[in-house]
Amino acid sequence: MKKLNIEKPYVIIQGFLTRKKLRTKVILSELKLGWLRQLLAISWKLPKFFVGTTTFALIIGSAIVYFSGTSSPAYLIVNGQKIGIVASVDKGHKIVDNFLTKRGQALGKVVKTHDLIEYEPVHDKTVENLEVMSADNELEKVLSSYVDGYALEIEGTQVAILPTQDDVQKLLKTYQDFYTKPSDTNQVISVEFSESIATKPVEAQPDQVVLVDQALKELTDGKKTITEYTTQPNDSWWLIARKNDMKTKEVLAGNPGMTVDSKLNPGQKIKIVSVTPYLTVMSKGILTSTETIAYDVVTKTDIKLASDKTLVQEQGSDGSKVVKYSYLQKNGQNISKQVVEEKVTKQPVTQVVSKGPGLTVVSMTSAVSRGSNSSTGIIWPLRGPINSPYGSRSGSFHTGIDIGGGTGSTYTAAASGKVVTAGWGGGYGNMIIIDHGNGVMTRYAHSSKLLVSVGQQVDQGQSIGLVGSTGHSTGPHLHFEVIINGSTVNPSNYLR
Ligand SMILES: [Zn+2]
Repeated sequence: MKKLNIEKPYVIIQGFLTRKKLRTKVILSELKLGWLRQLLAISWKLPKFFVGTTTFALIIGSAIVYFSGTSSPAYLIVNGQKIGIVASVDKGHKIVDNFLTKRGQALGKVVKTHDLIEYEPVHDKTVENLEVMSADNELEKVLSSYVDGYALEIEGTQVAILPTQDDVQKLLKTYQDFYTKPSDTNQVISVEFSESIATKPVEAQPDQVVLVDQALKELTDGKKTITEYTTQPNDSWWLIARKNDMKTKEVLAGNPGMTVDSKLNPGQKIKIVSVTPYLTVMSKGILTSTETIAYDVVTKTDIKLASDKTLVQEQGSDGSKVVKYSYLQKNGQNISKQVVEEKVTKQPVTQVVSKGPGLTVVSMTSAVSRGSNSSTGIIWPLRGPINSPYGSRSGSFHTGIDIGGGTGSTYTAAASGKVVTAGWGGGYGNMIIIDHGNGVMTRYAHSSKLLVSVGQQVDQGQSIGLVGSTGHSTGPHLHFEVIINGSTVNPSNYLR
């Protein structure tokens, strides 16, 4: 019977009292044709005399009167209770119709009622003269309504009612996609729920029915269970969290007004609010990811090069590879992941750097530190660990070394020379570049303060700036570069 598309699912059962007080039921249908088929197809609380009838034979009396055309006022009766007077039966139909339509609008559903709706002509002259009233407000109070919906049951518990079975399927699919995130690079091979799932048709109050988006939010928010915990002697928020396999802040969240500093007294009752997902999505798939292969740098000695020269013979470049992983996930989190295929799509090119045979710190220094107080080459501008070395770094190239140091620590010139830049350098933050002559320069970046200015002559070891974290920096450090003929080189090869 659910298959019948019933446009007007309630049937008006017209009743009136004759002057002889003989109660005669008159049947009206919104649809003149096929009304009986509909009537029999709907399992309402029909008056007893309808049960089992296929004809009008059992209807007492012979007066089958169609009121729909009349314009006389009538009582609107719901389940035997007069709830108001309508201008006409037609008007009454419209009022009921509108009422049910409005209730179902948000869901796009036809709202139905099991209630018995009857009309009775108003014969009492004094009543007839009364102003005709709308039964709208009264309907709101007395008329019950329902829609045919589909319930989603998880492990036998009803968790949501949706307008249609398609909506339930869409909800489950969206829930799976929410965790598995299928895409061109993520081929989901199988996906299933760990829980048993059932759907079944139900009659529901219109406000019990939720749309897919709302149901999805409720499902992904998870199921809250609240239990009471009695504080033990020597308990702390942290200990209670540990005992319940939760985090301290999760325990606190379930007890508004409480903080980690709130005192716990033995015997005190606190709430343990735990959230568990309604559904567990287990998925298997193949993830394809394009990854970078960092290039290597090889330094060769070239006797043909001048002792103080280095030359990039071949520019290095990163390669790339396509890696396929097979995975098993629970709610989008990897339980296992392994490489099943790896294909190099672009070989990395090794960077080849030539350097002059005599190119040592000493020889470079002899070129750059003429007149300085040091003859041993460029020196560490700051004592500290190398937090990040020179070279390929997560897909890009780090053009210097990061020397760890606290904000405000003084750093010094690595060799004597002339300050050619001292100021804001974008991503470098506050920086200094010193020209040591013969194509050799050093750069000092991310400073909190600069102690020198452009044009100034500095000595090796002279304080020139303070360590900071200005520009693109994740923490205080000195980014230090050695630049030879316009190209950076690995400072570690020159420092002593
Ligand atoms: Zn750096």
